[in-house]
Amino acid sequence: MGNPEVRPSLPVVGGTGTAGAVAKQPDGSRVFLTTKLEKLLDAARKNSLWPLPFGTACCAIEFMSFMMSHYDISRFGAEVVRFSPRQSDLLIVAGTVTDKMAPVMVRIYEQMAEPKYVISMGVCACTGGFYRAYHVVQGIDEFIPVDVYVPGCPPTPEALLQGVVKLQEMISNGETRYQRALAAKRASQAQAGG
Ligand code: SF4
Repeated sequence: MGNPEVRPSLPVVGGTGTAGAVAKQPDGSRVFLTTKLEKLLDAARKNSLWPLPFGTACCAIEFMSFMMSHYDISRFGAEVVRFSPRQSDLLIVAGTVTDKMAPVMVRIYEQMAEPKYVISMGVCACTGGFYRAYHVVQGIDEFIPVDVYVPGCPPTPEALLQGVVKLQEMISNGETRYQRALAAKRASQAQAGG
């Protein structure tokens, strides 16, 4: 793996104990790791994002560049593009969304299983862009929750790449919409139980 930033950020504990030991070091000490199941799952999710491109306009062309070998998104574990919402966990909305297309976008989002993430690519998806018109959605977050906004018209493939890396950081830190909603739900349940 080339980029150390994409390695799972699991808490690694070195020691001489035997419980949980997984490797013996040259000096005789053993290295083991402890973590929570949730952290382990987040590390797996972060490094195996399966994007579904919802490309409606010119931003989708930049998305195609982003997927090509020059940018090599497989370095980040996100190269497995799926056109089935049931097999995807990252919706990338790339392009202008009209009122007619909004229900389609919402249907696709709803068919994706949790945990799922959304990247809004380009000013059209983020805010409607320069289409201040009655038939254009003035930001997809009017209809679906967005985790990362990538600005630009069009955003460069590098910008989208940065958006994916940002999302990975958020998954590691428990900052995605899904993780925050889950944490809030658990906190309210604990409060009700206590
Ligand atoms: S943000 Fe610019 S490049 Fe992207 S869909 Fe809108 S007009 Fe096209």
